Amino acid sequence: MNLSSLGFFRSLRQGNHQFAVIGLGRFGRAVCSTLYHLGYDVLATDIDEKRVAQVLTDQIAAHAVQLDSTQPTALKEAGVFEFDTVIIAIGNYLEESIVTTLNVKEGGVPHVVAKASSEVHYKLLQRVGADHVVFPEYEAGCALARSLTKPSILDRFDLDPDNSIVEIIVPDEFHGKTIADLKLRSRFGLNLIAVSHNGKFVINPEPNDRLEKGSAMVVIGSNRDINRLPI
Ligand code: ATP
Repeated sequence: MNLSSLGFFRSLRQGNHQFAVIGLGRFGRAVCSTLYHLGYDVLATDIDEKRVAQVLTDQIAAHAVQLDSTQPTALKEAGVFEFDTVIIAIGNYLEESIVTTLNVKEGGVPHVVAKASSEVHYKLLQRVGADHVVFPEYEAGCALARSLTKPSILDRFDLDPDNSIVEIIVPDEFHGKTIADLKLRSRFGLNLIAVSHNGKFVINPEPNDRLEKGSAMVVIGSNRDINRLPI
């Protein structure tokens, strides 16, 4: 998530407990399963009857309907247009994905999330009105490249293209030093948010707390400053 998606996530209604998922490949099934196990009401749909039956057998959706989502009447009859949020998880069929997105937007669904499988696909989905587009293969590839080149960064949250919150392994050089000794703010321009201790995070640690190599710390700052850390 970054600032460009802020408007979309802010507009999602807190009280919404119903989601429709179109396309039951691995991605669509993962969305269904997670929403369903979090307690949300999920309508799962696919053109393939076997995939529809499978979600019911696997108990990863409350309701499942076989339909061709390129047909607006089929979507209307299944009640898809009544949903507040619809996830279009058709990655490998470009035309079907685009037509479905168009149909669902024209049907009046306020929040449409669509999965892209290429850059052109991404742009087309935005053009036909998708409110939020995800590109999981691209995002996973970027994350892998980052973790391979900076293995001490355990996790990162991009606030915008220039600033992040990162969870890093405490560098050897910081071992035994107090937070006050490190002067992270004046030397690196970074703010320390949390440090791990005995498997748990201490939020807003005290200046006298000592860091131990191999434990984890969370800092917020610009990517340029984060890259200056001895990691
Ligand atoms: P993955 O399995 O990696 O998640 P994916 O999300 O890209 O792949 P696809 O291979 O694109 O998934 O398939 C998604 C699902 O969309 C398939 O189960 C397919 O049957 C379904 N589908 C394709 N066309 C339509 C359509 N017109 N209406 C409804 N479902 C469709």
